[in-house]
Amino acid sequence: MGENIPSPHAVVVPLPAQGHINPLLHFADLLRDRGFFITFINTEWSEKRMLQSSKQFSHRSNFRFLSFSDGLPPEHGRTDQLGELLVTLAKCGPALEELLRSCSGVPPVTCIVTDSAMSCTLSVAANLGVPRVVFWIICAAASITQKYANVLLSQGHIPVKVSEAKRPEKLISGVPWSIPDLLPTDLISSYREQYESDIIFKAFLFESQQSNEADYTLVNTFDELEGRDAISALSTNGCPALAVGPVFLPKVLQGEESKLGSMWDEDESCLEWLDKQRTGSVLYVSFGSLALKSQQQLDELALGLEGSGQPFLWVLRSDIAQGQNAMLPEGFEKRTRDRAFIASWTPQLKVLAHASVGGFLTHGGWNSTLESISMGVPLLGWPCLGDQFLNCRFAKDIWKVGLEFKDVDVEENRLVPREEVERAVRDLMENEQLRKRVFELKEAAIKAVMPGGSSYTNITTFIQDMLEKAE
Ligand code: UDP
Repeated sequence: MGENIPSPHAVVVPLPAQGHINPLLHFADLLRDRGFFITFINTEWSEKRMLQSSKQFSHRSNFRFLSFSDGLPPEHGRTDQLGELLVTLAKCGPALEELLRSCSGVPPVTCIVTDSAMSCTLSVAANLGVPRVVFWIICAAASITQKYANVLLSQGHIPVKVSEAKRPEKLISGVPWSIPDLLPTDLISSYREQYESDIIFKAFLFESQQSNEADYTLVNTFDELEGRDAISALSTNGCPALAVGPVFLPKVLQGEESKLGSMWDEDESCLEWLDKQRTGSVLYVSFGSLALKSQQQLDELALGLEGSGQPFLWVLRSDIAQGQNAMLPEGFEKRTRDRAFIASWTPQLKVLAHASVGGFLTHGGWNSTLESISMGVPLLGWPCLGDQFLNCRFAKDIWKVGLEFKDVDVEENRLVPREEVERAVRDLMENEQLRKRVFELKEAAIKAVMPGGSSYTNITTFIQDMLEKAE
């Protein structure tokens, strides 16, 4: 940048949930490295949680955090009542605009990079006269099902009738994409008929409509994984749609990994425990930041892990037992002491990158799926909600890097018995084919984010386009 030319300035607005903050924070950091000034906007609730866990909250140059009130009372659960949160956030445009207008001493705003589920940024971008860049934190295939939710509704595919879920067909006619054999149960689970009268059903439909108001679209995936057709299908009114992921990977490759965005305290001691395990022997078990399990299911899972004979590192989030304190079966910790580590939250990127980890039992959140693929770790999918059903099925059937528990998509709350857990864990850890295939995709992901690679080049194109628009 010349001396008198201000840096371009990206305002980045995630939905306030861990799986949304992480990728947008990583992307913001990549833009900062390439000369942007960043304003990263949290809600007061999410910023407080991030500050509590990030003891070394770093004040990096050209990067500032701002926050606004989401208008919900302090005791509201936010992410466990996502429908209400989405409806309230949709009304926050004026608060967001006031916040941005009240700040001086920073470069003029070049663009707003917004989570696809934050429709409140629509009026802000229009009133500031800057491009609205819609960022999809889910894979391109899931993003398409969300972007075209209204088409699916008009064609009668939504609400999803789970009992008819085995019907394979091309669901969205007329969309220029090539994703094979999409099933009704692959759609975002909030569209299932049992949620038709829930607030979340309407909130998602509303957000899907608003996501079409985009001057530019970015998605956290890479061309070699999902193909250009699927990514182009996210384009709106001929505006570009580009894959820029995996956005966390460049920093990992540079040996830098910040815990800036974590909402929980990370238990770093699990890494020392991993150091003592055999290469490729450990199963990592985590269901992300939102998924809940019944106490009965946690018992079966624990006994299945015990019975598998495999060393395991298990993230037992404090609120995972449907908000209650999770209990472990009697004597479990004593019996598994020599081959188990239980943590309430881990530095997941470091865990997946560790040589001792040989498999990942996951809920299939998109970040976890992409992180696992990029680190070369095969997956065992146990989807719970949202886009996780699609991610797990694609990992198994399309990318062939994982296994999946049978029929959890059809019977969402089926109890998976311990014997099934035992069997599936053994199948995963012994499967050399999966390991070989995921290693190929790991190499492709690394190539994509290196200079000259597809995602690296796409970020360069995006930056050039933003600079041109700002002139
Ligand atoms: N994560 C973590 N430590 C944990 C569990 C999860 O750092 O113990 C991170 C993980 O790396 C990922 C995010 O939390 O970036 C979870 O996002 P994902 O899309 O996988 O699932 P969600 O939480 O949105 O359901």
